[in-house]
Amino acid sequence: MKLTILVDNHTLIDEYYLGEPGVSYYIEDGENRVLFDTGYSEVLLLNARRAGIHLEDLTHIVLSHGHNDHTNGLRFLQETIDLSRVTLCAHPHCFLPKYDGEEFIGAPYNSAEIARITRYTPTSGVRHLSERLVFLGEIPRGNDFEARTPIGTTIVEGRVEADTLRDDSALVYQNGEGIFIITGCSHSGICNIIDYAKKVCGEEHIHGVLGGFHLLEDSSQLDQTIAYLKANRIDAVYPCHCVSLLAKAKMLAVLPVQEVGAGMFIEINT
Ligand SMILES: [Zn+2]
Ligand SMILES: [Zn+2]
Repeated sequence: MKLTILVDNHTLIDEYYLGEPGVSYYIEDGENRVLFDTGYSEVLLLNARRAGIHLEDLTHIVLSHGHNDHTNGLRFLQETIDLSRVTLCAHPHCFLPKYDGEEFIGAPYNSAEIARITRYTPTSGVRHLSERLVFLGEIPRGNDFEARTPIGTTIVEGRVEADTLRDDSALVYQNGEGIFIITGCSHSGICNIIDYAKKVCGEEHIHGVLGGFHLLEDSSQLDQTIAYLKANRIDAVYPCHCVSLLAKAKMLAVLPVQEVGAGMFIEINT
């Protein structure tokens, strides 16, 4: 499996990719060409071209959740590439409207529109994209120290509700020797996600965890998360996107933290 960071907040020195505060990863495994999130703008397309990646060959798009820093790039992708044969995997709440106060922060299409553009089957449960790639669907929230605060509002069956991001999910790669977990923003809680990934895949060994962990403040949640990650003896931790410098610095003191930036790639042997 080869994963290329197409969109991230950061860029790396001497690598002339563009950055933006969003997420998009390109995953090649066997016959599968999977785009995990799409970033916010056309940066996805520009960085893919620079990396020599042909998004015309995509087989799947997986969306971690509906927020526009993960989904708005779909608009630019759809203008450039025919997605009618691409399977799109996302929780049904991904395409509900989402607001931060008055500001719209949701996906650029509703579920009827996305079903016309791609092969979309709403997926609230676990779904195997292939033998080795697993979409986790809705994440059970068992830990008492995370995923307790809603972000903005959404509209469910005509009623305005606080948005608990039920759509927030993750993708897991499993190769028989362990799992590699790929997250968007971890609104459902990075420890909840790891717990569920281990349960679904029946694996204890974690090759790596990559993505936004939604850890910004110095808090007991941060300390408990770091203790959890340490106890799981993860080979490599790639915190990015919505992880503050302070949170990364605290992690770096006790965890095998790796740098993340647009254009970088990670390979896991099969
Ligand atoms: Zn988000
Ligand atoms: Zn985000």
